[in-house]
Amino acid sequence: MADPLLDRAARLTLAIARDGDDCAWCRRPFTGQVTPTTDHLVPRVKGGPSWLENEVAACRRCNRARGHLSPSDWLAECERRGWHPDTDRVTRVLTALAGAITVRGGQRRARPYLEGQLRRLRRRAA
Ligand SMILES: [Zn+2]
Repeated sequence: MADPLLDRAARLTLAIARDGDDCAWCRRPFTGQVTPTTDHLVPRVKGGPSWLENEVAACRRCNRARGHLSPSDWLAECERRGWHPDTDRVTRVLTALAGAITVRGGQRRARPYLEGQLRRLRRRAA
């Protein structure tokens, strides 16, 4: 499991190595024009930790446009815009976050939010 104390740049590099070199939401490849940023799946305002298991690489445009929307609401909005967001990636990372919380403990505020998101993602997939 990744060290939760890795700095943000190191986590972003690892997120890209883990998930691929494109935005989780709009799927544009990261190039000179499209800069990767760290996007918290469970937003920090909802108690989401700055762990690799709560982060995906997103382009600056998507990160800003998403704001504090939940992953499931933002996935729906991406689809409404005609994009093909990586729902499997989002589900995989949120599932890893649930596992990391089980191991490390804490994150009492993030837990119910995370459980609600995983339920909604399972429903979407069904
Ligand atoms: Zn994007």
